[in-house]
Amino acid sequence: MSSKHPFFKISAGVFFAAALSMMGACTNESKISESVEPQAEINEPYLVNDFTGEITLRTDCEGTNIHWEYEGIDGPDYWEDICNSWDCGGNHQSPVNIIPPASRNLAKKLRFYWKNTATFIVNNGHTIQYNVDQPANLNEASYISLNGQKFYLLQFHFHAESEHTVNGVHYPVEIHFVHRNPIDGQLAVVGVFIEEGNHNPFFDDIMTSWPHDEGDFASSDTYNPKVLMPAGYNSTYDAHFWWYGGSLTTPPCSEIVNWMVWSTNIEASHEQIAEMEAILHENYRPTQPLNNRLVKAQ
Ligand SMILES: [Zn+2]
Repeated sequence: MSSKHPFFKISAGVFFAAALSMMGACTNESKISESVEPQAEINEPYLVNDFTGEITLRTDCEGTNIHWEYEGIDGPDYWEDICNSWDCGGNHQSPVNIIPPASRNLAKKLRFYWKNTATFIVNNGHTIQYNVDQPANLNEASYISLNGQKFYLLQFHFHAESEHTVNGVHYPVEIHFVHRNPIDGQLAVVGVFIEEGNHNPFFDDIMTSWPHDEGDFASSDTYNPKVLMPAGYNSTYDAHFWWYGGSLTTPPCSEIVNWMVWSTNIEASHEQIAEMEAILHENYRPTQPLNNRLVKAQ
């Protein structure tokens, strides 16, 4: 599949010019979506951009995106002090260190219904994020079914090193596939570790096309994101993951996430991982206390 999705870099200037010319259409679009589900939009700790599919953080700090970083005085140790409406000092935060339980428990009925999609790739200054095209008809959208509830795939993005650790050990890279339940606004995030190993054909084109600077964009042809999942990921008995209740790992750290972290990994070569690390700049939050939570194994 590597040759099937050439990437096209778009400069931020070109994108904003296009966005400006479409502003009228976007305004109408957002009015329509507000009228469809007004209750769901009001109390959520984030907003979903209808145009890009990106989650924008809602804050009470004058409604602006508050600056934060992965180091220094705006780093993770201080996130809880930056804005008092954030949950970063809460008791159910993510990521966590996973100590694999001795036994498995089949409490989660999880099925993937991901479809072929184009993605819009953005360097947002914190990660490289692939926003999944959102079709007008929900029946054509990618989703997972988790114990009978549908969570739609909004985007996936990358962290280096991994955010979750296993027995205290980081993997080089972790992918987060972010899904949202439009009924109650809860999120389901699937985490997949990338370990060093075989060359991964999915990253052939990406490594030359990832937008390297904040604000840069790129887009892709159509493909199915399942190429980034480990073998057996959609099998009742071969899909192995850890799950627990936690939070967004970036501000506002909202405690609304069903975490499912895969216990089988995918691989990328040493060179591919080095290039990801160079772009991602250690964009991981340190692990947080489990407190009264249990991590379970599926
Ligand atoms: Zn993430």
